[in-house]
Amino acid sequence: MAWTERQHRLLAAMGLRVWTPPAADAPAETMAEPPPERAPTPVAAPRVAPAAEPPPAPRAAPAVGSGALGALGWPELREAVAACRACSLCEKRTQTVFGVGHEQAQWMVVGEAPGEQEDREGEPFVGAAGQLLDRMLAALQLTRAADGELPPAQRVYIANTLKCRPPGNRNPQPDELAKCEPFLVRQIELVKPRLILAMGRFAVQALLRSDEPIGKLRGRVHRYQGVPLIVTYHPAYLLRNLPEKAKAWDDLCLAAEVFERRAAG
Ligand code: URA
Repeated sequence: MAWTERQHRLLAAMGLRVWTPPAADAPAETMAEPPPERAPTPVAAPRVAPAAEPPPAPRAAPAVGSGALGALGWPELREAVAACRACSLCEKRTQTVFGVGHEQAQWMVVGEAPGEQEDREGEPFVGAAGQLLDRMLAALQLTRAADGELPPAQRVYIANTLKCRPPGNRNPQPDELAKCEPFLVRQIELVKPRLILAMGRFAVQALLRSDEPIGKLRGRVHRYQGVPLIVTYHPAYLLRNLPEKAKAWDDLCLAAEVFERRAAG
């Protein structure tokens, strides 16, 4: 199987090794050389570019709108988040974690909630999971950086479903998610991404109103307010379940294909 350069970059970025068979006329020692140290290597089944768009996902119930926030621009929205005291998470937070990236990014990543490090630094995904996320994005030549010369097609805006850290990194509670949701909805309205990557259960529940496991939702193109949405595993989950990285890589390839198809069409 011939891997494209982009597939190689993705695999490397996600810590997957690919063994490329030597050419038939290679010297015997090379032929006998064992493939990768870590056996068995969890190489993903290659995602062959589909001839047609993957089957559409079932329609999700419409998400709530941004409501009263619908008229806010970026500065006002940022202020509203910083001042929010709608749920008890405000009592223990160091600061709110708004979002990061270019405001006109064409990609948007939606995660779960700030952890300890994010609460301290005020930026989403800066811990170990964030480093993996950055490597995954870099494999697609995408960046969260808001400055520099790159076009919007290579920019990612990253936001969480919750803007405050749940104490002890516990799961977000339904009332917290409900109170915080209009902020995320307004962020999506302002960014107007061409593609959304929903990472993990809580992002999926917020955007697709689905309780189905990630394993059942991934591999298809969903829609959020008309925007293609790809479901994948949360990077923190991937750090605990290394073999699943291959599936996340597959999801990224699907996202890149859908994005490119949209850009071309
Ligand atoms: N996990 C998330 O979902 N978001 C963060 O900002 C950090 C970890």
